[in-house]
Amino acid sequence: MKLDILVFAAHPDDAELGCSGTIASHISKGKKVGIVDLTQGEMGTRGTPEIRLQESEEASKILKLSARENLGFKDIYFQDDEFHQLKMIEMIRKYQPEIVLANAISDRHPDHGKGSSLASHACFMSGLRKIETLHNGESQTPWRPKAVYHYIQNNYIEPDFVVDITPFWKTKIESILAFKSQFYDPSSQEPKSFISDPDFLPFIEARAREYGHKILVKYGEGFTVERMPGVNDLFDLI
Ligand SMILES: [Zn+2]
Repeated sequence: MKLDILVFAAHPDDAELGCSGTIASHISKGKKVGIVDLTQGEMGTRGTPEIRLQESEEASKILKLSARENLGFKDIYFQDDEFHQLKMIEMIRKYQPEIVLANAISDRHPDHGKGSSLASHACFMSGLRKIETLHNGESQTPWRPKAVYHYIQNNYIEPDFVVDITPFWKTKIESILAFKSQFYDPSSQEPKSFISDPDFLPFIEARAREYGHKILVKYGEGFTVERMPGVNDLFDLI
C-alpha cells in the first residue's frame, strides 16, 4: 500500500504528541498516512508493551490511519546503524511515501535524536539502488521520499514552518489521551513519570498555542526541515 505521508516515531505516543494534528489535517484532505513506531516503549516508567500496543491501536483509529506498525527495536538501546537502517529502508520502500515525518532532531529523550538521524539516513539510503532489501521474500525497488520534516516534541526548537492544526486540536488531544497508561490518571497506582504529571497536558496546549500564535492561528505544530522548502504559489503560505 502506498502512503502519502509516513511517520516514524521512536516510541508509541511520540507521533501523537508531536504531529497528530498535522496527521489528522492531511487525512481529512484525503491523504493516506501511516505511523511506524520503532520501539514498544518498554523502558517507559508506566504501562507495558501490550498495553501500549492496545493504546496505539486506539489512537490509530482516532486518527484514521491507513497503517501502523511496530518495528520492535530495543527501547533506549537501538542505534543509528546498518541493522536498524535496513529495517527502516524496508518500511520506506514498502509504503513509498512522498513525505516522511520524523522525531525531533534533538530532545530530552535521547531516543528521539537517534530516531531522527536514523529516519534521515534511511530516507536517503532508501533511494540507493545498490542497497538491496527484501520484504516478505520479495526484492524491493528503491524509493526516496521528496522531503523529511522533523516534528518538535518536548524541548523547544524554533520551527522552520508551522502547520495550522486548529480544527484538529480536539482530535490531537483524543489521540494523546488514548495512551491512558502514560498520562495523568488520579486512580493509577503506577509510579509518577515526567509525562503523567497533571501539568503535562497544559504544557502540550501551551506549546501548540505558542506555535499557533506565531502564524496567527489558535493551535499549531512546528517542524524543522533538512532542505529549503519551496512553494508553487505565494497563496499557499498563510
Ligand atoms: Zn518518546
